[in-house]
Amino acid sequence: MPLIKTTGLVIQHTNIGEYDRMLSILSPTLGMIQVSAKGARSMKAGLHNTTRCFCHAEFVLYPAKKEVYSLKSATPLQVFLELAEDLDRLETATEIAKFARYLCISADYAEPMLRLGLGSFYLLCHDANPQQVKLTFLLKAAQTAGFTPNLSTCARCGSMNALVWFDTENGTCLCSECAKKKNLSPALLAMFRYILTAPMQRCFAYRAENVLLAAADPLLFAFIRQHIGYFGNTKKGRH
Ligand SMILES: [Zn+2]
Repeated sequence: MPLIKTTGLVIQHTNIGEYDRMLSILSPTLGMIQVSAKGARSMKAGLHNTTRCFCHAEFVLYPAKKEVYSLKSATPLQVFLELAEDLDRLETATEIAKFARYLCISADYAEPMLRLGLGSFYLLCHDANPQQVKLTFLLKAAQTAGFTPNLSTCARCGSMNALVWFDTENGTCLCSECAKKKNLSPALLAMFRYILTAPMQRCFAYRAENVLLAAADPLLFAFIRQHIGYFGNTKKGRH
């Protein structure tokens, strides 16, 4: 049986029984895959750390049966241990991983999504603002998966000036002439546009005050809820 070699980021691990684990791994070539790691928790197997959440490793897999691969071996590339040292960072990394998992990433865009995830975890380990990392990841990941709001022209009159309303339901925006209300400041619009237009490796490279991030938060959550179905019903709280 030919073995499959892939790098990948462990997005979730579930302990099964005394020694085993089931993993969700984001592979740049296979997409989001399920991997059964038998004996991963026994110290003998040497797989304890490489089969944990947030580990980036090179995996050797047996081909999938019923869509589940089996792990033969794993060599760690990057473990992001610092994520566990701070509750805020850990929570943010977990939210990022959950969203990535929800997007059910296909092999078509798994490679940029992996780079985005690795970039987020690296920044979280190096004192970046967790709120900014999360917001940037969510918007860029949504865009990578094909959900991009149009924030360049007014959806009604085509104006490029004074865009003041982010219509999250339609994924569009309106100018001050066409909108009755206002939920976008110039700084907020500029931040969203920067994330959407910057290349993957530069999309985190901006500074935003917490007040701006707080204003962006409900708009982005509404857009993602309405277009991707994530975050469920606001009355029930967020995932
Ligand atoms: Zn207009």
